[in-house]
Amino acid sequence: QAEAEFWNTANNKLIRYGGKWTHKIIVEAEGTVMKDIRGNRILDWTSGQMSSLLGHAHPEIVAVVEQYVKQLDHVFSGMVTQPVVDLCDKLTALLPRGLDRCMFLSTGSETNECAFKLAKMYTGGFEVVSFAASYHGMTAGAGAATFSVGRKGYGPQMAGNLVLPVPYAYRSPFRFPDGSYDWKSELDYGWDLIDRQSVGALACCVVEPILSTGGIIELPEGYLKELKRHCEKRGMLLIIDEAQTGMGRTGDMFAFERDGVVPDILTLSKTLGAGLPLGATVCTQQIEEVCRERGFFYYTTHLNDPLVCAVGAKVCDIAVETDLPGQAAHKGKILKDGLLQLQNKYPCIGDVRGRGLLLGIEIVLDEAKTPGDQLGSEISARCLETGLSCNVVQLPGMGGTFRLAPPATISEEEIREGLEIMDAAFAYCLA
Ligand code: PMP
Repeated sequence: QAEAEFWNTANNKLIRYGGKWTHKIIVEAEGTVMKDIRGNRILDWTSGQMSSLLGHAHPEIVAVVEQYVKQLDHVFSGMVTQPVVDLCDKLTALLPRGLDRCMFLSTGSETNECAFKLAKMYTGGFEVVSFAASYHGMTAGAGAATFSVGRKGYGPQMAGNLVLPVPYAYRSPFRFPDGSYDWKSELDYGWDLIDRQSVGALACCVVEPILSTGGIIELPEGYLKELKRHCEKRGMLLIIDEAQTGMGRTGDMFAFERDGVVPDILTLSKTLGAGLPLGATVCTQQIEEVCRERGFFYYTTHLNDPLVCAVGAKVCDIAVETDLPGQAAHKGKILKDGLLQLQNKYPCIGDVRGRGLLLGIEIVLDEAKTPGDQLGSEISARCLETGLSCNVVQLPGMGGTFRLAPPATISEEEIREGLEIMDAAFAYCLA
């Protein structure tokens, strides 16, 4: 009866977000494990909305929330508090020298809006370049730079959003029969197109080190360096959006470290707040000083909120003390090895990709790589039914790509358990 009433309201009175509600009613979550209303145990391999990198209800995060909700929850935006200063110090200590000016906001969309406004004011341009499978948020500017979902039905987007081809090694036309992948030529070609589309007002290029919503497309090694070179050549800023990859998930504290590149502006959200609404825009001293001089104005109701900033500061501590990048690298390898074993067993797993604990497998129907969207959805639904929550990307032509991003605190036992559930789900759906 209670469940029927629940679904009556959920189905009839909530605005749909675009996807389907899963039929599970989750009532609690701790570590990697969620419980539904019927007492079923479900492993959370999406870390909530890719955010809970420390697992759910991490005791140290719970303690900080309990303290600050009582002591200092929220203040006027013109007031700076100790947790904000602490987070600023702790976060910039983890970043390369030079990236040392922070603004703390609530969501990833806001951090990218802020980054674009800084880039526009700093360069005097307004054109924003992003990738054909990008996700940077849903607000006006961030949504206009998002090419994976949500563009249809609202008329014109912001002017000046230009798009680069995705370095999608598995299906790229720049991948040759000998297996080599000439991503450099693909990128040069993309910039050729940008130069033709541009009205001469390029401001910035924004990129995710692993395009997650777009199908776990990992940028090839050295790609960010090339991207930076293209930006510098055109007087543009490079914005790296580490909403999902920041704080250790890919095996480095920040995914850009692998390529030895420093962005002009870094945006963080999801993982920085460990599941609470916290985001950060971080830029160089020079950008901040020039924009301040020119009258930069950007804030929200929850700018620099002490409660979530105290959480962010604790996340920084935990990331260092428990070597979150090392944990993600180690456990990610175990998970990836398990996925490669599944690929040996099930040829419909066309591709296994990603790094650390942001992994993807792409489902195909045959050797011609016909996308297996429907099959992917069926297998993922079966996983949820039998105790594993994962997510499939539904982009046309990209197949039912599974996104696997469990918390870095997951145990090796829980990795094995989840792989067994996947194995059984594949067997069931293919039978
Ligand atoms: N950037 C990236 C890379 C994301 O994955 C997301 C969220 N999926 C966002 C930005 C937007 O964040 P939010 O939903 O918190 O606005």
